[in-house]
Amino acid sequence: MIISQSPIGEYDKRIVILTDSIGRISVFARGARRQNSAFMGQTEVFSFGTFTIYPGKSSYTLTGVSVENYFSDIRTDLSKSVLGMYFLEFASYYTREGQNETETLKLIYATLLAMEKGKVPLELIRRIYELRLMTIHGEAMDLTECMECGKEEANMYLSMAERGIHCKDHKKENDIMLDASSLYTLRYVESIPIERLYSFSVSDPVMERFSKIMDGYMRRYLDRPLRSEEMLNILTNS
Ligand SMILES: [Zn+2]
Repeated sequence: MIISQSPIGEYDKRIVILTDSIGRISVFARGARRQNSAFMGQTEVFSFGTFTIYPGKSSYTLTGVSVENYFSDIRTDLSKSVLGMYFLEFASYYTREGQNETETLKLIYATLLAMEKGKVPLELIRRIYELRLMTIHGEAMDLTECMECGKEEANMYLSMAERGIHCKDHKKENDIMLDASSLYTLRYVESIPIERLYSFSVSDPVMERFSKIMDGYMRRYLDRPLRSEEMLNILTNS
């Protein structure tokens, strides 16, 4: 999937592709900004498909594209495209060349499909994506049992600092209370197969708690803010 693009010179383009087997790569697309170039429409952000490239000294060069899905619904809807761009930037944050990113790519694909279908609210899609992406890249919360004593109760208390949960006897000052449905939601998002991620809904209080947790969790564990988040928040709060 193409996750970003930038112009080079008069007619060329540099695109960044997230691939399954070799991670995030930078590719030079010669002539992709010429009106009559076959690459013109194919080298836009969100294009998902098979890319033929050849390695050069410092970057790859694009020689062929077969697009399977353009996600045109997302490109033409402002809220969805801003959210989609945010997802791609967040994926870019975690990925680099040489890593296998099959899971990340699967997650992005399922997420964009869910946005297109429009059955799950965008706010819920956003939070599910954030938590699952962080989980894939080794930043999961341990939600199995109390970290101190191993007890499991209906309500547990989430520690952002320790990335785990406490029972009521061991809860600490800044822990966030998780009622049974909030806890269930977090566990579900961390562990269910990606194909089934976008198949549930939550009540307003659970949604609110989920959003608050993810804002705090990302603030704590990302070493820099995402550029597209500002735009996203402007749009969400207006
Ligand atoms: Zn305990």
